[in-house]
Amino acid sequence: MAHIVIGGGVVGLSIAYGLLKRGKDVVVLDGADDDFRASRGNFGLIWIQGKGEHAPHYATWSRRSADLWAGFAKDLLVETGVDVAYQDAGGIDYFTDEDVLEKRGRSLSQLAQQLDDDYPFEILDHSKLKALVPEIGPKVVGGIYSPMDGHVNPLSLLRALSIAVRNAGGTIRTGAQVISVGARDRDFSVLLADGAKIDGDALVLAAGLGSVELAEELGFDAPIRPQQGQVLITEKLPHFLKYPSGTIRQVNEGGVQIGASKSEAGTNDSEDIATSASLAQHAIDIFPHLERVKLVRSWAALRIMSPDGYPIYQRSQSARGASFVTCHSGITLAAAHASLMPDWILERNRAPDVSQFSESRFHV
Ligand SMILES: Cc1cc2nc3c(=O)[nH]c(=O)nc-3n(C[C@H](O)[C@H](O)[C@H](O)COP(=O)(O)OP(=O)(O)OC[C@H]3O[C@@H](n4cnc5c(N)ncnc54)[C@H](O)[C@@H]3O)c2cc1C
Repeated sequence: MAHIVIGGGVVGLSIAYGLLKRGKDVVVLDGADDDFRASRGNFGLIWIQGKGEHAPHYATWSRRSADLWAGFAKDLLVETGVDVAYQDAGGIDYFTDEDVLEKRGRSLSQLAQQLDDDYPFEILDHSKLKALVPEIGPKVVGGIYSPMDGHVNPLSLLRALSIAVRNAGGTIRTGAQVISVGARDRDFSVLLADGAKIDGDALVLAAGLGSVELAEELGFDAPIRPQQGQVLITEKLPHFLKYPSGTIRQVNEGGVQIGASKSEAGTNDSEDIATSASLAQHAIDIFPHLERVKLVRSWAALRIMSPDGYPIYQRSQSARGASFVTCHSGITLAAAHASLMPDWILERNRAPDVSQFSESRFHV
């Protein structure tokens, strides 16, 4: 019987790919066209610096995934012919305020201490940064470089994963909106909106924000909420930006992506002029030459946020064989989700210890 994965975003597909590599029969059910789809609206970073500032276990888990990314991208290229444009030159966060830079530097130093100094980063003053990135403007007081960071083309990643899942014998059913799940130990019967039924002996709930509606039947709390992020992209430019930052990166096709804002706006996924203007101003403060560049597109998408911002990995207590997987950094964690999490889902001995990411942390 099949492993059913509900959700065909980057999280569901990464896990499906890993399960198929372990010889499992997998069917991915992906919902309606108008569902929220963070995997199609994100910033494409594999970002480590600053992640888990108050949670070293999250910093370690993110780093572990980043370390797996080169092999993951290579496997996808070999298996699908799709180059996900993985870049691992490192990343730079830019600062226009000395105090903020100093505070961030202190915070990263504390985290590095907690991680036995295995957390490379370098604080660069304006002139050192200018030597590395000559295009920065006078308002930039400095930056933090870390070789741990990188980026990819997230739409190519999604395409590669879809092809890889199908090539490995998996089934992806699109327009397959799950409306209910009958769940008993190792026995799942999923009902789709079109009346079709799919049976399986294991199930992974990875439906992003859509997980909330299915969680209770499977014995999960799913305390997640949407958080809006708006993004801009410019016309294609000659390549000038080697290092992505948390807010500005040049994509492999040449456009400069600027973002992403953070707003608690419920399920509003429309962009607005005020946010676009402030994102554009920030980018011009860092790189003044962008003032003369055309914006060609803007959009908003919804992050999937847990109360503390860290992933949730939870096995069902009421229906053995069901797992819930969600996170707000599905690109960064895609390599871990494909390479490590399938062993946890299959309850194998070599599974990573992700107990600190269970839902029980919210029960205090
Ligand atoms: C603006 C923005 C910028 C971001 N930048 C980054 C970044 O730089 N780096 C990074 O690591 N992460 C980033 N993220 C986060 C990343 O995009 C998400 O963590 C990731 O896409 C989540 O993937 P997912 O598969 O869980 O969810 P989604 O992509 O939302 O996919 C969920 C899928 O489940 C399906 N579904 C829902 N309900 C049902 C149902 N009932 N039945 C069947 N299917 C269903 C939907 O159709 C959808 O395809 C960003 C997010 C946003 C919004």
